[in-house]
Amino acid sequence: MPATPAWPPKSLPRLYVEARLAEGAQLTLDGAAANYLGAVLRLKAGEAVALLDDATGEWRATIVEPGKRRVTLAVGERLRPRETVPDLWLLFAPIKRGRIDWLVEKATELGAARLQPVVTRRTVVDRLNLDRLRAHCIEATEQCGRTALPELMPPAKLADLLASWPRERALLFADEAGGAPLAQAAAPPPAAILIGPEGGFADEERAAIRALPQARAVSLGPRILRAETAAIAALSLWMAAAGDWGPARS
Ligand code: SAH
Repeated sequence: MPATPAWPPKSLPRLYVEARLAEGAQLTLDGAAANYLGAVLRLKAGEAVALLDDATGEWRATIVEPGKRRVTLAVGERLRPRETVPDLWLLFAPIKRGRIDWLVEKATELGAARLQPVVTRRTVVDRLNLDRLRAHCIEATEQCGRTALPELMPPAKLADLLASWPRERALLFADEAGGAPLAQAAAPPPAAILIGPEGGFADEERAAIRALPQARAVSLGPRILRAETAAIAALSLWMAAAGDWGPARS
């Protein structure tokens, strides 16, 4: 029998659960979670996983009763408390399936705190499957080591969002018509990035956004990016300049 290599160390499989976790608790999973642990990973009694609940953090748990349909686990010690992610919202106009799934996955990995779909004049996608998007958020959270899910909001109209915009929150409006380079204009948290639909913003929308005192038009360079590329580029620039990618900030 081949020896199990000691290197690279294998990280524990991570799984988000709805239940609130606490040391000593037992929980039984069914459905997709049980299928993943029991049928895909074929975990046996005594094997460990990491569970996260988006409330208390990440916990080590041990399989008590394995199975393909139902898996019972005992929760052990807490590995990490729930993290505080930088207070950055991503506002984006819904785009086509596939592209939007990708956007949500990448925005989760890059560290967005909230994902807010925005309905604009030229938004072409009118139905949004939030359950599917939430599943992508969860999967990306499990994969990338986050202990806090991004908050996935139901779609809202641009005008309504602007009308109730929080006074303290900077709105970095990615404007392909020009603005300050985002790398230099990345406002500190609380902040938000707004990305338009493939058709861009209508003139009156652009005027309404620019009229908001918290808004600042920012540029992502001389090329027109697809909406999902613009979102990823903007998140990355903001995270490096004002988020948690750089040296520690107070
Ligand atoms: N159809 C529009 C482009 C829309 S691109 C046109 O041809 O002008 C989709 C969105 O991505 C834009 O609304 C904007 O928010 C963002 N975006 C794309 N390229 C950008 C850039 N170079 N600078 C800033 N924002 C950009």
